[in-house]
Amino acid sequence: MADSSRYYTLAEGCPVANSSTAILARNGQGGGLGLLQDTQLIETLAHFSRERIPERVVHAKAVGAYGEFEALADCTDIMALSFLNKIGKKTPVLLRVSTVGPESGSADTIRDVHGWAMKLYTDEGNLDWVFNNTPVFFIRDPIKFPSLNRSHKRHPQTHMTDSNMFWDFHVGNPEGIHELLHLFSDRGTPKSIRHMNAYSGHTYKFTKEDGSFKYVKIHVKTQQGVENFTREEAIKIAGENPDHLIKDMFEAIENGNFPVWNVFVQVMDPIEAQNYRWNIFDMTKVWPHSDFPLRLIGKLTLNRNPQNYFTDIEQAAFSPSTMAPGFAPSADPVLQARLFAYPDAARYRLGVNYQQLPTNAAKVQVYSPFQRDGAMRFDANYGSDPNYVNSSLKPMRFYNEVNGLSAKSLSVFTEHEKWAAEIASYTSSIAEIDFVQPALLWDVIGKEPGHQGRLIGNLAASIKDVLSSELRQQVYVLFSRVNKELGRLVAEKTESMIED
Ligand code: NDP
Repeated sequence: MADSSRYYTLAEGCPVANSSTAILARNGQGGGLGLLQDTQLIETLAHFSRERIPERVVHAKAVGAYGEFEALADCTDIMALSFLNKIGKKTPVLLRVSTVGPESGSADTIRDVHGWAMKLYTDEGNLDWVFNNTPVFFIRDPIKFPSLNRSHKRHPQTHMTDSNMFWDFHVGNPEGIHELLHLFSDRGTPKSIRHMNAYSGHTYKFTKEDGSFKYVKIHVKTQQGVENFTREEAIKIAGENPDHLIKDMFEAIENGNFPVWNVFVQVMDPIEAQNYRWNIFDMTKVWPHSDFPLRLIGKLTLNRNPQNYFTDIEQAAFSPSTMAPGFAPSADPVLQARLFAYPDAARYRLGVNYQQLPTNAAKVQVYSPFQRDGAMRFDANYGSDPNYVNSSLKPMRFYNEVNGLSAKSLSVFTEHEKWAAEIASYTSSIAEIDFVQPALLWDVIGKEPGHQGRLIGNLAASIKDVLSSELRQQVYVLFSRVNKELGRLVAEKTESMIED
């Protein structure tokens, strides 16, 4: 029925009298034949078929919100990042927190590492911190990244997640043992995003105008306190509400219960890095707190829900390569690979002009006429400004808008860093040192009543689905290398579950 009280138009603006009608060739017998001239119907159906964009191959299921970062300390002794250059300075932030392996429709309380992607819209351009809720990662050789993720996703034949391939990958790539302990500990099933920490994992660099730099690791620690579900609770809630983490965060913010995190850095001088007992470019290792204490730099508060999930969160693109002056990558090979892979994923998923989308756009004046045209260019494309560099032609309308602003000479790359290198292949190999920090974590977990028992139960519940007893034995050997008792307990618990 026509509803003349509601005003609708076609996408091009022409008013339509009825939002629910179809133009048909009718012969009076009911029904009718559709006509190509029914623009309203055709456009509606054609757009619906195209409204999904490629889902992220990892980190598809997410919750997001806006907020602010407030600088709480004077850090000018170690870096030149403008958003940290004055106590009390506030910078707008977008945060997107996700599980890694499962699809967008999956339950968000299932056991998984959680991605923590944070865009700081600083007054010197955007800075993305693309972190996880664990301080380490499963691999340190970038080429293993697709294999790792596929082994956690669906089997190529059965299309089911598969413990056989999960554990087969980790037995074959034992450097992930530290991260496995984090994943199967209570922290693998956070009770809410508000009660979760996040860590840079990688080593990054804080840089200064004089060319000096410090290595840093960043820690984002919840003021609400860390809280987790047990395995049983997480499974139950996955059935009751697969969007539990989204609901928890959305409702808290909607009710004015704004979550807050303190942000810290560990700071290492490059001289110290040279002889440090841990390889700081190996993201399967932490820097022990006793060696490098946490230094508070600021706090993050989330205070605004997205207006529209698709435009604000799904179209958001985060990359470790998005760096403001004063922040720089280290020589961690996995980080180096991510600098390429993340913006490449955004180009595929959102198109080559993804930086113009409102949620990704910098809040400062942008003048980047080296990037022109491309699919879905929807700004003025720098008009008649030259599309090559070092032009002396005038006037340049868009250039004139930024004329007078002076560029910081500081590049995100520390120019003083000299590399005399040889091109060589590198594959990391496993050594006894790889089991030292996992053993320390096993002891840390032991300080919390019942936690070691829950870790064993969580591991056994996954390993019991490995069909080959030979592969199961290899898994037990892997955990025995951390701690003999751990290996024995995992074997005992798993085999007893299988016998039941
Ligand atoms: P400490 O012995 O000084 O402290 C242990 C840290 O472990 C705590 O500060 C806490 O970090 C974290 N932690 C506490 N309970 C758990 C848990 N149930 N699951 C996971 N992490 C927990 O740490 P060290 O620096 O000497 O490192 C010892 C081990 O602690 C490491 O091998 C590492 O696995 C783990 N750890 C170390 C971190 C680091 O950056 N040094 C960070 C997190 C864990 P937080 O306050 O961040 O929650």
